Amino acid sequence: MSNALPVAELINNRGMNVDARCQACGEEPESINHTLFGCHVARQVWALSSILNPPGGFHESSVFSNLDFLLNSRKGNNSLLIYWRNWPWILWNLWKRRNESLFEGRLLTSEEVVLKSEDEAEEWFLAQQVEKDWAVTEKASKPLIRLNWEPPPCGWLKCNVGVDWCKRDGLAGGGWVLRNERGVVILHSRRAFSGLLYKVEANFEILKWAVESMRSHHISNVIFSGDLEDMFGAITGPEA
Ligand SMILES: [Zn+2]
Repeated sequence: MSNALPVAELINNRGMNVDARCQACGEEPESINHTLFGCHVARQVWALSSILNPPGGFHESSVFSNLDFLLNSRKGNNSLLIYWRNWPWILWNLWKRRNESLFEGRLLTSEEVVLKSEDEAEEWFLAQQVEKDWAVTEKASKPLIRLNWEPPPCGWLKCNVGVDWCKRDGLAGGGWVLRNERGVVILHSRRAFSGLLYKVEANFEILKWAVESMRSHHISNVIFSGDLEDMFGAITGPEA
């Protein structure tokens, strides 16, 4: 809507001389509206998707009326919400498909674009649900006793690792915070884990993830800390 997608028409408008035609059909100038709604690829994707197309089809030239349709048409019919919610992923994957075919010579079929969009939307909404569930559990649980944080020695960093595990559904949440000797937070991260049947497994996976995160950030001289005695014991005294 802010004319930011670098389609051929806009690149030409900004003074560069490129082939203005759509490279997928070769028939029309490549505008944003053509790429996302008008081109035969886009038409096919929208037709295959679970979204009801506007009566008479998408507008031929106005990206505004087409987005207005997607944003506002489902109002008043909530039963269709589950099918309707995929549309941002369809737009995104149409754009990605255009770039992949242009720059990498990879051509996804219309069916693949639709399936990919549906999968990605599903995954995103599922992640929102997990976040929501966590917020509820976190609120319900008793306030944690704050232990005094001890700074690492000079030249070292400290990574505090936290694990929360739920026996009922095998889900776990992990988090780590990396601080310097003055207690300044350098980096932090959190992640969800699933399929963890035992507490010790959750502790292991999450500590491993924290160690790997340090490695991938090229951070050495780190002291790991957390309520993970069994794990630290296994490292410092493997025979036991
Ligand atoms: Zn086209």
